[in-house]
Amino acid sequence: MQLPEHLLDELTGKPGFDRTEFTDAHAHPAPTSVRLHPVKGKGLFEELPRVLWCEEGVYLPERPVFTLDPLFHAGAYYVQEASSMFLQQALQVAGAEAPSLRVLDLCAAPGGKSTLIASLLHPESLLVSNEVIRTRASILEENTSRWGYMNNWVTANDPRDIGKLEGYFDIIVVDAPCSGSGLWRKDPNALNEWSEENVELCSGRQKRIIADVWPALKPGGYLIYATCSYSQAEDEDIADWIADAYNAEGVAIPVADTDGIVCTTSAVANIPGYRFFPHKVTGEGFFLTMVRKKIDETTHTMPVYKWQADKKVQHIAQQYFGNKDVTIIPAREGNYSAIGSQHIADWQLLQKHVWLRRTGTAVGMPAAKDWVPDHEVALCVDTSPQQWLDVNREQALKFLKREEMGVALREKGWLIVRYKGLGLGWVKSLGNRYNNYLPKHWRIRMNIDE
Ligand code: SAM
Repeated sequence: MQLPEHLLDELTGKPGFDRTEFTDAHAHPAPTSVRLHPVKGKGLFEELPRVLWCEEGVYLPERPVFTLDPLFHAGAYYVQEASSMFLQQALQVAGAEAPSLRVLDLCAAPGGKSTLIASLLHPESLLVSNEVIRTRASILEENTSRWGYMNNWVTANDPRDIGKLEGYFDIIVVDAPCSGSGLWRKDPNALNEWSEENVELCSGRQKRIIADVWPALKPGGYLIYATCSYSQAEDEDIADWIADAYNAEGVAIPVADTDGIVCTTSAVANIPGYRFFPHKVTGEGFFLTMVRKKIDETTHTMPVYKWQADKKVQHIAQQYFGNKDVTIIPAREGNYSAIGSQHIADWQLLQKHVWLRRTGTAVGMPAAKDWVPDHEVALCVDTSPQQWLDVNREQALKFLKREEMGVALREKGWLIVRYKGLGLGWVKSLGNRYNNYLPKHWRIRMNIDE
């Protein structure tokens, strides 16, 4: 792999950089890592090595065909590059586990950071995962549905629209679009697209994104900024730009000397930054920095809204949540969703300003004399146990292909198809056959017999 001389020259002499070792690392394939779901992934891959900076991160000895693993479809783990799991450390320093926070993942598709944040947040908190590119927002929606947290909502807006939610978020994560040099091992084609001009272009866009969203950060709130670029113009210089433009303070994240993470500081404001080089860590190129907005006198007060749920629908849908305090709200195309009742005001405020693609957990819709449950109920970790149908791997894959499963017939009714105790989706038993309710666009398309 021929790495650009310009970038190598820029990095030479910088902390932690070694030209030969860095170049040699690019002759080796990127490691494969996954991050376990804290509930659904318990006990998985216990014998495998862990990612040093993320308890749920695991290295796999080789890259399997994830599509052929029903546990992947159940959301037991997320396939994620190891370095970027460092976000967990930043979130912990920012106090993200405290209850009743509002957290924004601004550039969220396909959902790696969002699923990590959702795993860490308190159930009373709210995570808004946003993706401006609509086709990518669909992938984000699917991945966050699979992860299964009711308090993880999805929006598809330009950062400028989100910026109108003045002082609303306690933590904002900006995993910015960048020149992508850190991912050359995974995507060698990106090397051909790399240029100094593109780095400059990305740097300008990164500043614009932050400027647009900055008003939405609460005074005293944290902004976590990350890229998968090695270029200073997209990394430390952005930290300096934030410090200068907003008089924000840098926040240090403790790291162990043995982890191979390189601690840097920005040239002007000395904002701490964390660099991941493939010759120093088992992972790809990554950069993260965190700043805190100055505390001022303004306080954000939530408007008070009243919402009267449809009693009949509330009663039917509540059965999925046991004693949990949820409110059922109308969703797209005659569907209904469940949100934590503490988030009613958030729902009403957000829908005034942004396009909510997913609000809470979709619970389904009435049809004739029946209630058709939504796929998300089967994947959600906030639901109570429902009637189920346990299947083996082969039957699970048949279900995921929307084919005849070859399972013994059961009495009539709705059943969640489960593999190793984890929900994959719904079937309706008609007594003489099962109707498969896996959404068509979730269907496995590859040949499972190969
Ligand atoms: N956070 C994601 C994850 O962990 O899976 C990866 C995000 S990726 C590095 C950057 C994202 O920013 C992309 O999904 C891209 O579509 C989005 N993006 C591109 N241009 C943008 C813009 N002008 N404003 C906000 N987001 C943008």
